[in-house]
Amino acid sequence: MRSQDHDRIFLSPPHLGRHELNYVHKAIEDNWVAPVGPNVRGFEQELCHYTGAAHCVALNSGTAAIHLGLAVLGVGPGDEVLCPSFTFVATANPITYLGATPVFVDSEPTTWNICPDRLREAIEDRLRRGKKPKALLVVHLYGMPAQLEQVLAVAAEYTIPVLEDAAEALGSRYAGQLLGSFGAVSMLSFNGNKIITTSGGGALLTNRADLAQQAQFLATQAKDPAPYYKHSVVGYNYRLSNILAGIGRGQLELIEDRVKKRREIYTWYSRHLQAISSLQIGPAEPADSRSNRWLTTLLVDPQQTTVSAEQLRQHLETRNIESRLLWKPLHLQPLFAQVPRYGGAVCENLFARGLCLPSGSAMTEADLERVSQAIQELF
Ligand SMILES: *Cc1c(COP(=O)(O)O)cnc(C)c1O
Repeated sequence: MRSQDHDRIFLSPPHLGRHELNYVHKAIEDNWVAPVGPNVRGFEQELCHYTGAAHCVALNSGTAAIHLGLAVLGVGPGDEVLCPSFTFVATANPITYLGATPVFVDSEPTTWNICPDRLREAIEDRLRRGKKPKALLVVHLYGMPAQLEQVLAVAAEYTIPVLEDAAEALGSRYAGQLLGSFGAVSMLSFNGNKIITTSGGGALLTNRADLAQQAQFLATQAKDPAPYYKHSVVGYNYRLSNILAGIGRGQLELIEDRVKKRREIYTWYSRHLQAISSLQIGPAEPADSRSNRWLTTLLVDPQQTTVSAEQLRQHLETRNIESRLLWKPLHLQPLFAQVPRYGGAVCENLFARGLCLPSGSAMTEADLERVSQAIQELF
């Protein structure tokens, strides 16, 4: 079978509903084609209402939200910021924008997120070396909540503020509470591949009015109150446009539906691939966690098969099916070769064995059949 015989199945393409266009139409009719306007305010209020956060600043990317989040937490030149090694580079890049250095911490094997024990070890060692980390980034990879109770307890013990990277985790819950509401500052992404999208966009969430106000100030060129253009600090042009916020409002109406669909896809793969003993769909959900299952991921067991995750990826590609290896740990990236790290073997092992399967919420049963059959061909 040649790849042209089938349409391509993408990893996680945008999935539009029926209501986005209404908001976009209204913005154009009302001539609100500017990076502030009723859709921006509406989207912010609706995100607060959904997540339970008190304040929201809509921004033009999730990366911008991390950048401003770190800035309002006081991160600056020479500081150190704790960060999981197992994540997308966009989690860590903003640390370096501010002249600070990441300190990488390994994952734990249950949720694949930052390990509370390695975290404590990292903090103790940085303190011994004479520098207290300025902030801690916590990421919920592929939608799976981190072990928040333990991680937040360690952060609280050493009074280190937490920036929650919930870019992949909108709609996931921990102890019944929606992610995006656990950090001193939390952030979301609405990039095209995320569970809901504005094509590109992000948001900063916080319960602290002062931090929200500071973030909004920095996002709009840091204009001091004066009748002329007065600036005393460096600002950025990071606000979300009113048009894109309109897409976001329509998308947010669908979030529970999208979570339900992604969870069904995870369950579908689990059932249909369980006969292949060398593949393990996971991570499983701990009792207190409910993942949005943004991407279904699997691990290949090298004890049971000689087929690698990369060979599986290449095989799916010949069937015109997109899949991706798990995030390559940041401590293995040339960019961060000089960065201190604590542990690393857990996430290196996950990277060596793991693959993300197509998980878009518009996938049909026939699409899922095609992916599962292509996998079965190889095993
Ligand atoms: C997508 C993503 C980001 C960055 O969001 P953008 O909106 O693409 O800038 C940050 N962290 C993680 C874990 C992500 O998956």
